[in-house]
Amino acid sequence: MEKLEKEQLVAYCGLYCGNCGKFQKGKCPGCAKNEKASWCKIRTCCMENKYATCADCATMTPRSCKNYNNLFAKFFEVVFKSDRKTSVEYIKEHGREAFADLMIDQNQMVIKKQKK
Ligand code: SF4
Ligand code: SF4
Repeated sequence: MEKLEKEQLVAYCGLYCGNCGKFQKGKCPGCAKNEKASWCKIRTCCMENKYATCADCATMTPRSCKNYNNLFAKFFEVVFKSDRKTSVEYIKEHGREAFADLMIDQNQMVIKKQKK
């Protein structure tokens, strides 16, 4: 996969769409192009601000932003054992390409929540 494609498959919230079954089966074009995902406040916010992901956010981090900390987001984290906040921090530190590479290596869509 070429560099640009890999980067573009990193969703605004810190998921790697390239490893999603729906994407791989051709049932979803990935977050950025998925117009059905207009319900998502994270996606809408990043698009309005022209951010590639929340790692570019000038005012908030996923730990402080209410869009990551509502009931739905917490439910999502528990069910999928996902840690999108840490994923966004990883993107901030290493970039989208390195995050995509990590997810490809681990065959995951997101950094998994560590057991406490
Ligand atoms: S972290 Fe920033 S870019 Fe992401 S949803 Fe919150 S306010 Fe928007
Ligand atoms: S939760 Fe929102 S930003 Fe994340 S993949 Fe889904 S639609 Fe995209």
